Amino acid sequence: MRCPDSVIRSIEGVQSLESLEILTYPNNFLAKAAEPVTQIDGKLQKLIDNMAETMYLAPGVGLAAIQVNIDQSLLVYDIAPPEEDKELNVLINPKIFASEGSVVSENEGCLSVPEFRADVPRAEQVFVEAVDREGRPIHLEAKGFLAVVLQHEIDHLNGRLFIDRISTLKRQIYTRRMKKKIKHQS
Ligand SMILES: [Zn+2]
Repeated sequence: MRCPDSVIRSIEGVQSLESLEILTYPNNFLAKAAEPVTQIDGKLQKLIDNMAETMYLAPGVGLAAIQVNIDQSLLVYDIAPPEEDKELNVLINPKIFASEGSVVSENEGCLSVPEFRADVPRAEQVFVEAVDREGRPIHLEAKGFLAVVLQHEIDHLNGRLFIDRISTLKRQIYTRRMKKKIKHQS
């Protein structure tokens, strides 16, 4: 088990992993398109580690930098089952260059869209180009759950949320609920 008290660890200086704040809808930053990463340096490596920490703590299977208020084209994911060892994957400047087929991703959810899930139309298979955290080129052919995760996260980097891909009526149910909630809090 990963120790959740990241604050204490950073004070002790053993490890400086930080859990980052995840922006939630309707924060406008989530609608912003990310800028390409131009430099893979220590600062970026630290961001990657902190994003991974944030994703595992949430817990989630994927996280795009835009969700933690950084408009860089970068995402992390790990779809290994919880009982298995962690398998962190990092994609920098990912692009879907081809897709095939169509499926409905059932009950899709998002850390930035709390308390809501919906069935989302997705491509069945995607072909993705990116570079890893060492700057080496990656070519991925993904099907099934991984294909959905990649489409979901790459959408984030293009300023899109899964609720932008469902019917207006279903989206309105959610946005009304969120507006009511925000009103109650203020
Ligand atoms: Zn998401």
